[in-house]
Amino acid sequence: MGERKAALVTGSTSGIGLGIATAFARSGMDVTLNGLGDAGEIEKIRSSLEREAGVKVRYDGANLMHADACAGMIESAIGANGRLDILVNNAGIQFVSPIEDFPVDKWNAIIALNLSSSFHTIRAAMGHMKGRKYGRIINIASAHALVASPFKSAYVAAKHGVLGLTRTVALEGAQFNVRCNAICPGYVHTSLVENQIPDTMKARNMTREQVINEVLLEAQPTKQFVKVEDIAGLALFLVSESANQVNGAALSVDGGWTAQ
Ligand code: NAD
Repeated sequence: MGERKAALVTGSTSGIGLGIATAFARSGMDVTLNGLGDAGEIEKIRSSLEREAGVKVRYDGANLMHADACAGMIESAIGANGRLDILVNNAGIQFVSPIEDFPVDKWNAIIALNLSSSFHTIRAAMGHMKGRKYGRIINIASAHALVASPFKSAYVAAKHGVLGLTRTVALEGAQFNVRCNAICPGYVHTSLVENQIPDTMKARNMTREQVINEVLLEAQPTKQFVKVEDIAGLALFLVSESANQVNGAALSVDGGWTAQ
């Protein structure tokens, strides 16, 4: 049996990131988790995944708002596992407000986490991956990397930026067997979506049910939320041998939202 692949998934203490990290561990990879949250809860997630999957699962609590923390996390992962084969940039936050009232600190925070942290992690990992002639980078973008919605100026700008970054890295890594792709999910019912419901109710003067049916699922022709497992399945495909020539792609998993 060959050496196990080592993967790092940012923002993997909940939602989509945790789904991807779980799928990776169950498929036999060593995994580094990252994200914020209650230390005891995170340790429970880490130890139960390690036990269940029979792989090494470590946790790095780096706050990815800061460039140094992003680079430090990558260096620690390479140090701890001796390699980094797969990097998934997933950590992200949302804030909803008309642009004239959009707090400048929220703009700065969203750009820092949703866009710049991916630059900093890739910047720190790229030399290592090119040197080993192997790397798989997946950036979790969004349908909002392809189209806009009102009141999400920072998020939409950051996610459009993530696609530009993805394509650039795909070209730089192409001849070094480093692949970089973006997954563009539609609405997945995670805490990120749950938390924006109250603000959207306020911004649009709607009830909770109206926001879910007339704003969120309105965009999705299937009228169903995307499942975390749907995103994890695509991530597994992207790190498989069959995806060797998939590079610089923006892969939509949005129930047909961006087909419109
Ligand atoms: P989530 O809130 O469940 O998870 C976000 C993760 O990021 C958590 O682990 C959190 O601890 C971590 N995080 C937050 N701030 C951090 C920081 N400063 N440093 C390190 N980690 C931090 O959200 P989710 O819905 O699973 O979102 C994951 C990604 O998917 C985001 O990039 C989001 O934009 C994207 N996305 C989500 C949806 C959706 O509908 N939920 C749709 C499209 C794209």
